[in-house]
Amino acid sequence: MSNPHIIAVPFPAQGHVIPLMELSQCLVNHGFRVTFVNTDYNHKQVVNALAADESQLSDRICLVSLPGGLEPWEARHEVGKLCEATERVMPGKLEELIEKINQGEGDKVTCVIADECSGWALEVAEKLNIRRVAFYPASAAILTLQFSIPKLIHQGIINDDGTVLRSQMIQLAPGMPTMKTTEFLWACMGDLTAQKIVFQVMVRNNKAAKLAEWIVCNSAYELEPAAFTVAPEILPIGPLLASSRLGNSACYFWPQDSTCLQWLDQQPPCSVIYVAFGSTTFFDQTQFQELALALELSQRSFLWVVRPDITDKTSDPYPEGYQDRVASCGLMVGWAPQQKVLAHPSIACFLSHCGWNSTIEGLSNGVPFLCWPYCSDQFLNESYICDVWKVGLKLKKNENGIIPQGEIKSKVEQLLGDENFKARASKLKEMGMTSVKEGGQSHRNFKNIIEWMKTC
Ligand code: UDP
Repeated sequence: MSNPHIIAVPFPAQGHVIPLMELSQCLVNHGFRVTFVNTDYNHKQVVNALAADESQLSDRICLVSLPGGLEPWEARHEVGKLCEATERVMPGKLEELIEKINQGEGDKVTCVIADECSGWALEVAEKLNIRRVAFYPASAAILTLQFSIPKLIHQGIINDDGTVLRSQMIQLAPGMPTMKTTEFLWACMGDLTAQKIVFQVMVRNNKAAKLAEWIVCNSAYELEPAAFTVAPEILPIGPLLASSRLGNSACYFWPQDSTCLQWLDQQPPCSVIYVAFGSTTFFDQTQFQELALALELSQRSFLWVVRPDITDKTSDPYPEGYQDRVASCGLMVGWAPQQKVLAHPSIACFLSHCGWNSTIEGLSNGVPFLCWPYCSDQFLNESYICDVWKVGLKLKKNENGIIPQGEIKSKVEQLLGDENFKARASKLKEMGMTSVKEGGQSHRNFKNIIEWMKTC
């Protein structure tokens, strides 16, 4: 008998690849075969990192790659360029791949699960008459904002090219986080050209989402009841975490430095500040050094992820003598096994850029946050963390646009000095995790979808 065969197509960025791979691993555990499509560039990074981590994926997951349209030296963090290149090159290549698989001896493709941000893949699936699921790796709230674009244009809040016409706070529904219109996802993505491209991609994705037979999202009803009420077509299936399946997370672009877990074992419970800013955040030298000094000043232990490309400095980016001075209390690594780090009992709080994966990974482990958003949906996630769930504090910039050491130090003290943050975070952890267990809503949605997928 043939196995149901899924093609999984993430948007080509780390924060999209990880949760779709997690979903793929869950599907494999239910008897599916998955072909996971990265761009050539990301595929190479993933394969190198898998080899360095000495880890292996299930043989029911086949990693394949297609050209992503950018040359190896072209910047992938410029999201406008990334979207344009992807949409120009990948649809044709995906079509060829599916046709090749279907003409071969193996299991035919029964369903495409595409990142909602890669709506073009849903269009390809429709063209080839293959069943379709849209997977959204971020919050229901931000997808609701995207679905609300026509309404925002109609209300005169934005132009039809996404330009923000009225600077104000808005709330899409009671109970949802408030957002500044100037911090709408597309409005804080690079320069004006990039903003317009991202906006057009979102408009196109709104159309493509209509082609999907299911729209699922890496969130839980308990975390965002208002958003799921406003947009009931979005079904939560999260939080998707490797720990729920008692497995390891996979598909990283960099090898993980797992020695930090042994270092954490030596720290007292609830004592360490974990500092990480996801896969693309970039620091100028002044801000980087200010953060470094703040961590030193805090007189607490810290684990800080300093990606090799986090600053533009090719040489040592730290203040002079810094690494020696903090050696007894601080550990810097290039890439951490973050899900395991956040689950470690020694972690006291998470200084984060508030990417959605980081947000739900922290929440699912009951860890309070210090929020340092940069772009994309991170401001909205900060609003969830600080204003709705009340499990974190915002950091304020000074008149020069810098978050100064004193601000970081005092917010660390405030956060860790008030037990209510931890208490609320622990409660939320229970709520979120109940959702993916037998009887929970995310679990039910997932079961329904896999039953449907088996009939495709
Ligand atoms: N991550 C990791 N190790 C690190 C830093 C980040 O494994 O040292 C993972 C993290 O667990 C999360 C993802 O990278 O799953 C980052 O996604 P997020 O949405 O938080 O941020 P983005 O990178 O998309 O800005």
